[in-house]
Amino acid sequence: PISATDLINTQKICVCVRKRPLNRQEVTKKEIDVVSVPGKGTLLVHEPKQKVDLTKYLDNQVFHFDHSFDENVTNELVYKFTAQPLVQSIFEGAMATCFAYGQTGSGKTHTMGGDFTGKQQNSAKGIYALAAQDVFTYLKHRKYSCLDLSVYVSFFEIYNGKVYDLLNKKAKLRVLEDDRQQVQVVGLEEVCVSTAEDVIKIIQTGSACRTSGQTSANANSSRSHAILQIVLRRNDRAATLHGKFSLVDLAGNERGTDVSSNDRGTLVETAEINRSLLALKECIRSLGKNSDHIPFRMSTLTKVLRDSFIGEKSKTCMIAMVSPGMASCEYTMNTLRYADRVK
Ligand code: ADP
Ligand code: MG
Repeated sequence: PISATDLINTQKICVCVRKRPLNRQEVTKKEIDVVSVPGKGTLLVHEPKQKVDLTKYLDNQVFHFDHSFDENVTNELVYKFTAQPLVQSIFEGAMATCFAYGQTGSGKTHTMGGDFTGKQQNSAKGIYALAAQDVFTYLKHRKYSCLDLSVYVSFFEIYNGKVYDLLNKKAKLRVLEDDRQQVQVVGLEEVCVSTAEDVIKIIQTGSACRTSGQTSANANSSRSHAILQIVLRRNDRAATLHGKFSLVDLAGNERGTDVSSNDRGTLVETAEINRSLLALKECIRSLGKNSDHIPFRMSTLTKVLRDSFIGEKSKTCMIAMVSPGMASCEYTMNTLRYADRVK
Protein backbone atom coordinates (compact mmCIF):
# COMPACT_ATOMS: atom_id res chain seq x y z
CA PRO A 1 0.00 0.00 0.00
CA ILE A 2 1.08 3.57 -0.68
CA SER A 3 1.44 5.76 2.39
CA ALA A 4 0.16 9.32 2.61
CA THR A 5 3.73 10.56 2.53
CA ASP A 6 4.50 8.75 -0.72
CA LEU A 7 1.39 10.11 -2.35
CA ILE A 8 2.08 13.72 -1.52
CA ASN A 9 5.86 13.75 -1.81
CA THR A 10 5.65 13.26 -5.54
CA GLN A 11 3.69 16.45 -6.11
CA LYS A 12 4.40 20.11 -5.48
CA ILE A 13 0.89 21.23 -4.76
CA CYS A 14 -1.64 19.43 -2.67
CA VAL A 15 -5.19 20.76 -2.35
CA CYS A 16 -7.58 19.28 0.19
CA VAL A 17 -10.97 20.15 1.57
CA ARG A 18 -12.31 19.77 5.09
CA LYS A 19 -15.94 19.98 6.15
CA ARG A 20 -16.68 20.92 9.75
CA PRO A 21 -19.66 19.53 11.68
CA LEU A 22 -22.82 21.60 12.17
CA ASN A 23 -22.31 23.52 15.38
CA ARG A 24 -24.76 23.71 18.27
CA GLN A 25 -26.37 26.95 17.09
CA GLU A 26 -26.86 25.55 13.61
CA VAL A 27 -28.42 22.39 15.00
CA THR A 28 -30.74 24.51 17.18
CA LYS A 29 -31.74 26.54 14.14
CA LYS A 30 -32.39 23.28 12.29
CA GLU A 31 -29.84 24.29 9.68
CA ILE A 32 -29.68 21.78 6.83
CA ASP A 33 -26.41 20.05 5.93
CA VAL A 34 -25.85 20.47 2.19
CA VAL A 35 -22.29 19.13 1.94
CA SER A 36 -21.41 15.47 1.47
CA VAL A 37 -18.02 13.84 1.39
CA PRO A 38 -18.38 10.50 -0.37
CA GLY A 39 -14.60 9.90 -0.15
CA LYS A 40 -11.66 9.60 -2.56
CA GLY A 41 -11.11 13.34 -2.60
CA THR A 42 -14.64 14.10 -3.70
CA LEU A 43 -16.96 16.65 -2.16
CA LEU A 44 -20.47 17.43 -3.17
CA VAL A 45 -22.76 20.41 -2.56
CA HIS A 46 -26.33 19.27 -2.98
CA GLU A 47 -29.99 20.03 -2.51
CA PRO A 48 -31.30 19.19 0.93
CA LYS A 49 -32.90 15.84 1.62
CA GLN A 50 -31.83 14.28 -1.62
CA LYS A 51 -30.00 10.98 -1.58
CA VAL A 52 -26.40 11.36 -2.60
CA ASP A 53 -25.95 9.76 -5.99
CA LEU A 54 -22.87 11.20 -7.68
CA THR A 55 -24.08 10.46 -11.18
CA LYS A 56 -27.17 12.56 -10.64
CA TYR A 57 -25.34 15.77 -9.93
CA LEU A 58 -24.20 18.53 -12.21
CA ASP A 59 -20.46 18.89 -12.70
CA ASN A 60 -20.45 22.26 -11.01
CA GLN A 61 -21.62 20.71 -7.75
CA VAL A 62 -19.05 17.94 -7.60
CA PHE A 63 -15.48 18.79 -6.70
CA HIS A 64 -12.37 16.63 -6.78
CA PHE A 65 -9.34 17.26 -4.61
CA ASP A 66 -6.28 15.34 -3.47
CA HIS A 67 -8.12 14.53 -0.26
CA SER A 68 -11.50 15.35 1.19
CA PHE A 69 -12.18 15.16 4.91
CA ASP A 70 -15.64 14.84 6.40
CA GLU A 71 -16.90 16.19 9.72
CA ASN A 72 -15.72 13.12 11.66
CA VAL A 73 -12.08 13.42 10.70
CA THR A 74 -9.62 14.50 13.42
CA ASN A 75 -6.93 17.18 13.19
CA GLU A 76 -4.35 14.40 13.45
CA LEU A 77 -5.60 12.73 10.30
CA VAL A 78 -5.84 16.01 8.39
CA TYR A 79 -2.27 16.73 9.49
CA LYS A 80 -1.03 13.35 8.31
CA PHE A 81 -2.26 13.96 4.77
CA THR A 82 -1.39 17.65 4.50
CA ALA A 83 1.38 19.24 6.57
CA GLN A 84 3.25 16.17 7.76
CA PRO A 85 4.91 15.35 4.42
CA LEU A 86 6.03 18.98 4.21
CA VAL A 87 7.84 18.85 7.55
CA GLN A 88 10.35 16.37 6.21
CA SER A 89 10.84 18.44 3.09
CA ILE A 90 12.24 21.39 5.05
CA PHE A 91 14.99 19.12 6.37
CA GLU A 92 15.79 18.40 2.73
CA GLY A 93 16.13 22.16 2.23
CA ALA A 94 12.65 23.06 1.04
CA MET A 95 10.56 26.17 1.60
CA ALA A 96 7.17 24.71 2.38
CA THR A 97 3.81 26.35 2.99
CA CYS A 98 0.49 25.15 4.31
CA PHE A 99 -2.59 27.36 3.99
CA ALA A 100 -5.93 27.22 5.78
CA TYR A 101 -8.46 28.86 3.47
CA GLY A 102 -12.19 29.48 3.91
CA GLN A 103 -14.93 31.73 5.23
CA THR A 104 -14.90 32.95 8.83
CA GLY A 105 -16.20 30.21 11.10
CA SER A 106 -15.37 27.35 8.72
CA GLY A 107 -12.60 25.89 10.93
CA LYS A 108 -9.29 27.44 9.81
CA THR A 109 -8.00 28.32 13.26
CA HIS A 110 -9.38 25.08 14.72
CA THR A 111 -7.40 23.08 12.16
CA MET A 112 -4.19 25.07 12.61
CA GLY A 113 -4.52 24.94 16.39
CA GLY A 114 -4.36 28.65 17.04
CA ASP A 115 -7.49 28.81 19.16
CA PHE A 116 -6.51 29.30 22.78
CA THR A 117 -9.74 30.88 23.94
CA GLY A 118 -11.48 27.62 24.80
CA LYS A 119 -10.41 24.78 27.01
CA GLN A 120 -7.23 24.26 25.00
CA GLN A 121 -7.99 20.66 24.20
CA ASN A 122 -7.68 21.40 20.51
CA SER A 123 -4.86 23.89 20.36
CA ALA A 124 -2.32 21.31 21.48
CA LYS A 125 -3.47 19.03 18.71
CA GLY A 126 -3.68 21.40 15.79
CA ILE A 127 -1.35 21.41 12.82
CA TYR A 128 0.99 23.97 14.44
CA ALA A 129 1.69 21.72 17.42
CA LEU A 130 1.80 18.48 15.44
CA ALA A 131 4.27 19.99 12.99
CA ALA A 132 6.42 21.30 15.84
CA GLN A 133 6.57 17.83 17.40
CA ASP A 134 7.67 16.26 14.14
CA VAL A 135 10.30 18.94 13.55
CA PHE A 136 12.04 17.91 16.77
CA THR A 137 11.68 14.24 15.92
CA TYR A 138 13.40 14.78 12.57
CA LEU A 139 16.03 17.00 14.16
CA LYS A 140 17.23 14.04 16.22
CA HIS A 141 16.97 11.62 13.33
CA ARG A 142 20.24 10.01 12.23
CA LYS A 143 19.78 11.30 8.72
CA TYR A 144 19.51 14.95 9.75
CA SER A 145 21.38 15.32 13.04
CA CYS A 146 24.68 15.63 11.13
CA LEU A 147 23.37 18.80 9.47
CA ASP A 148 23.80 20.63 12.80
CA LEU A 149 20.63 22.68 12.64
CA SER A 150 18.76 24.92 15.06
CA VAL A 151 15.03 25.66 15.06
CA TYR A 152 13.61 29.18 15.15
CA VAL A 153 10.05 30.40 15.21
CA SER A 154 8.44 33.63 14.14
CA PHE A 155 4.78 34.53 14.22
CA PHE A 156 3.26 37.55 12.53
CA GLU A 157 0.09 38.93 11.09
CA ILE A 158 -0.73 40.74 7.88
CA TYR A 159 -3.58 43.19 8.15
CA ASN A 160 -4.47 45.66 5.40
CA GLY A 161 -1.17 44.93 3.71
CA LYS A 162 0.87 45.75 6.84
CA VAL A 163 2.98 43.30 8.84
CA TYR A 164 2.62 43.13 12.64
CA ASP A 165 4.89 41.03 14.84
CA LEU A 166 2.81 38.85 17.17
CA LEU A 167 5.90 38.04 19.24
CA ASN A 168 6.73 41.68 19.81
CA LYS A 169 3.57 43.49 20.93
CA LYS A 170 2.31 43.81 17.39
CA ALA A 171 5.20 46.02 16.32
CA LYS A 172 4.56 47.25 12.79
CA LEU A 173 7.32 45.98 10.51
CA ARG A 174 8.57 46.98 7.08
CA VAL A 175 8.94 44.60 4.16
CA LEU A 176 12.00 45.27 2.03
CA GLU A 177 13.09 43.80 -1.26
CA ASP A 178 16.71 44.02 -2.35
CA ASP A 179 18.04 44.17 -5.90
CA ARG A 180 18.20 40.38 -6.06
CA GLN A 181 14.47 40.21 -5.25
CA GLN A 182 15.21 38.83 -1.79
CA VAL A 183 12.40 39.85 0.52
CA GLN A 184 12.97 40.59 4.18
CA VAL A 185 10.67 41.53 7.03
CA VAL A 186 12.88 43.99 8.87
CA GLY A 187 13.20 43.36 12.60
CA LEU A 188 10.98 40.29 12.71
CA GLU A 189 11.45 38.46 16.01
CA GLU A 190 12.85 34.96 15.52
CA VAL A 191 12.87 32.90 18.71
CA CYS A 192 15.24 29.96 19.06
CA VAL A 193 13.33 26.94 20.38
CA SER A 194 14.44 23.55 21.62
CA THR A 195 11.20 21.67 22.28
CA ALA A 196 7.71 21.39 20.81
CA GLU A 197 6.39 22.81 24.10
CA ASP A 198 8.44 25.97 23.48
CA VAL A 199 6.67 26.34 20.14
CA ILE A 200 3.23 25.81 21.67
CA LYS A 201 3.94 28.49 24.28
CA ILE A 202 4.97 30.89 21.53
CA ILE A 203 1.82 30.17 19.53
CA GLN A 204 -0.19 30.78 22.68
CA THR A 205 1.49 34.13 23.32
CA GLY A 206 1.15 35.15 19.70
CA SER A 207 -2.47 34.05 19.40
CA ALA A 208 -3.38 36.03 22.52
CA CYS A 209 -1.62 39.02 21.01
CA ARG A 210 -3.53 38.49 17.78
CA THR A 211 -6.96 38.74 19.31
CA SER A 212 -6.15 41.43 21.87
CA GLY A 213 -5.65 45.15 21.42
CA GLN A 214 -9.07 46.54 20.56
CA THR A 215 -7.47 49.96 20.40
CA SER A 216 -5.44 49.04 17.36
CA ALA A 217 -7.04 49.08 13.97
CA ASN A 218 -6.72 45.34 13.90
CA ALA A 219 -9.42 44.29 16.32
CA ASN A 220 -10.89 41.51 14.25
CA SER A 221 -8.57 38.58 13.66
CA SER A 222 -10.76 37.11 10.94
CA ARG A 223 -9.71 40.00 8.70
CA SER A 224 -6.00 39.25 8.92
CA HIS A 225 -3.62 36.52 7.80
CA ALA A 226 -1.60 34.87 10.60
CA ILE A 227 1.72 33.33 9.60
CA LEU A 228 3.71 30.98 11.81
CA GLN A 229 7.16 30.21 10.45
CA ILE A 230 9.32 27.32 11.61
CA VAL A 231 12.81 28.05 10.36
CA LEU A 232 15.80 25.70 10.21
CA ARG A 233 19.21 27.37 10.33
CA ARG A 234 22.66 25.87 10.28
CA ASN A 235 24.77 26.42 13.36
CA ASP A 236 27.39 28.34 11.41
CA ARG A 237 28.51 31.93 11.90
CA ALA A 238 25.98 33.31 9.46
CA ALA A 239 23.16 31.06 10.75
CA THR A 240 22.52 30.07 7.12
CA LEU A 241 18.92 29.38 6.20
CA HIS A 242 18.39 25.67 5.52
CA GLY A 243 14.61 25.27 5.25
CA LYS A 244 11.42 27.00 6.24
CA PHE A 245 7.85 25.96 6.90
CA SER A 246 5.19 28.70 6.78
CA LEU A 247 1.82 27.81 8.25
CA VAL A 248 -0.79 30.34 7.26
CA ASP A 249 -4.21 30.91 8.81
CA LEU A 250 -5.68 33.07 6.06
CA ALA A 251 -8.20 35.90 6.49
CA GLY A 252 -11.85 34.96 5.92
CA ASN A 253 -12.61 34.90 2.20
CA GLU A 254 -16.16 36.24 2.45
CA ARG A 255 -16.81 38.95 -0.07
CA GLY A 256 -17.38 42.59 0.70
CA THR A 257 -20.41 42.71 -1.54
CA ASP A 258 -22.19 40.39 0.87
CA VAL A 259 -21.46 42.64 3.79
CA SER A 260 -24.18 45.22 4.24
CA SER A 261 -21.70 47.71 5.66
CA ASN A 262 -20.78 50.71 3.56
CA ASP A 263 -18.07 51.58 6.02
CA ARG A 264 -15.03 52.72 4.12
CA GLY A 265 -12.61 50.93 6.45
CA THR A 266 -14.38 47.63 5.85
CA LEU A 267 -14.34 48.12 2.10
CA VAL A 268 -10.62 48.85 2.07
CA GLU A 269 -10.04 45.81 4.29
CA THR A 270 -12.05 43.58 1.99
CA ALA A 271 -10.37 44.85 -1.16
CA GLU A 272 -6.98 44.11 0.40
CA ILE A 273 -8.02 40.58 1.40
CA ASN A 274 -9.41 39.86 -2.07
CA ARG A 275 -6.25 41.19 -3.65
CA SER A 276 -4.00 39.02 -1.48
CA LEU A 277 -6.06 35.86 -2.00
CA LEU A 278 -6.05 36.42 -5.75
CA ALA A 279 -2.29 36.97 -5.66
CA LEU A 280 -1.85 33.80 -3.63
CA LYS A 281 -3.76 31.77 -6.17
CA GLU A 282 -1.65 33.15 -9.00
CA CYS A 283 1.61 32.47 -7.16
CA ILE A 284 0.70 28.89 -6.31
CA ARG A 285 -0.30 28.30 -9.92
CA SER A 286 3.09 29.65 -11.06
CA LEU A 287 4.79 27.28 -8.65
CA GLY A 288 2.84 24.40 -10.13
CA LYS A 289 3.90 25.35 -13.63
CA ASN A 290 7.54 25.87 -12.58
CA SER A 291 7.14 29.29 -14.08
CA ASP A 292 9.90 31.89 -13.89
CA HIS A 293 7.39 34.62 -13.50
CA ILE A 294 5.96 34.69 -9.99
CA PRO A 295 3.59 37.62 -9.46
CA PHE A 296 4.64 37.92 -5.83
CA ARG A 297 4.57 41.72 -5.78
CA MET A 298 0.78 41.73 -6.05
CA SER A 299 0.35 41.61 -2.26
CA THR A 300 2.23 41.73 1.03
CA LEU A 301 1.22 38.13 1.74
CA THR A 302 2.83 36.81 -1.42
CA LYS A 303 5.84 39.12 -1.00
CA VAL A 304 6.76 37.74 2.41
CA LEU A 305 6.25 34.20 1.11
CA ARG A 306 8.23 34.77 -2.08
CA ASP A 307 10.88 32.14 -1.23
CA SER A 308 8.16 29.52 -1.10
CA PHE A 309 6.97 29.98 -4.66
CA ILE A 310 10.32 29.45 -6.32
CA GLY A 311 12.79 26.63 -6.52
CA GLU A 312 12.74 22.94 -7.25
CA LYS A 313 12.06 21.96 -3.71
CA SER A 314 9.21 24.28 -2.82
CA LYS A 315 6.00 22.55 -1.86
CA THR A 316 2.63 23.77 -0.78
CA CYS A 317 -0.58 22.46 0.63
CA MET A 318 -3.91 24.22 0.79
CA ILE A 319 -6.68 23.05 3.07
CA ALA A 320 -9.99 24.59 2.03
CA MET A 321 -12.43 24.65 4.93
CA VAL A 322 -16.18 24.59 4.37
CA SER A 323 -19.18 25.03 6.63
CA PRO A 324 -21.88 22.42 6.07
CA GLY A 325 -24.98 24.60 6.39
CA MET A 326 -27.38 25.72 3.70
CA ALA A 327 -26.99 29.33 4.87
CA SER A 328 -23.27 29.17 4.00
CA CYS A 329 -23.83 27.57 0.60
CA GLU A 330 -22.72 30.54 -1.45
CA TYR A 331 -19.50 30.97 0.56
CA THR A 332 -18.88 27.25 0.36
CA MET A 333 -19.18 27.31 -3.43
CA ASN A 334 -16.79 30.29 -3.60
CA THR A 335 -14.27 28.44 -1.46
CA LEU A 336 -14.50 25.28 -3.55
CA ARG A 337 -14.16 27.15 -6.84
CA TYR A 338 -11.07 28.94 -5.57
CA ALA A 339 -9.46 25.73 -4.31
CA ASP A 340 -10.32 24.06 -7.58
CA ARG A 341 -8.38 26.69 -9.52
CA VAL A 342 -5.27 26.71 -7.39
CA LYS A 343 -3.92 23.60 -9.03
P1 ADP B 1 -12.26 30.22 11.41
O1 ADP B 1 -10.89 30.29 12.01
O2 ADP B 1 -12.26 29.66 10.02
O3 ADP B 1 -12.99 31.51 11.50
P2 ADP B 1 -12.77 28.51 13.67
O4 ADP B 1 -11.61 27.59 13.55
O5 ADP B 1 -12.68 29.57 14.70
O6 ADP B 1 -13.11 29.17 12.27
O7 ADP B 1 -14.05 27.60 13.88
C1 ADP B 1 -15.32 28.14 14.24
C2 ADP B 1 -15.93 27.26 15.33
O8 ADP B 1 -16.19 25.95 14.84
C3 ADP B 1 -15.03 27.08 16.54
O9 ADP B 1 -15.81 27.08 17.69
C4 ADP B 1 -14.39 25.73 16.30
O10 ADP B 1 -14.03 25.11 17.52
C5 ADP B 1 -15.50 24.97 15.60
N1 ADP B 1 -14.94 23.97 14.66
C6 ADP B 1 -14.34 24.23 13.49
N2 ADP B 1 -13.96 23.11 12.86
C7 ADP B 1 -14.34 22.09 13.65
C8 ADP B 1 -14.23 20.65 13.56
N3 ADP B 1 -13.66 20.06 12.49
N4 ADP B 1 -14.74 19.92 14.56
C9 ADP B 1 -15.32 20.51 15.63
N5 ADP B 1 -15.45 21.85 15.77
C10 ADP B 1 -14.97 22.64 14.81
MG1 MG C 1 -9.93 32.01 12.72
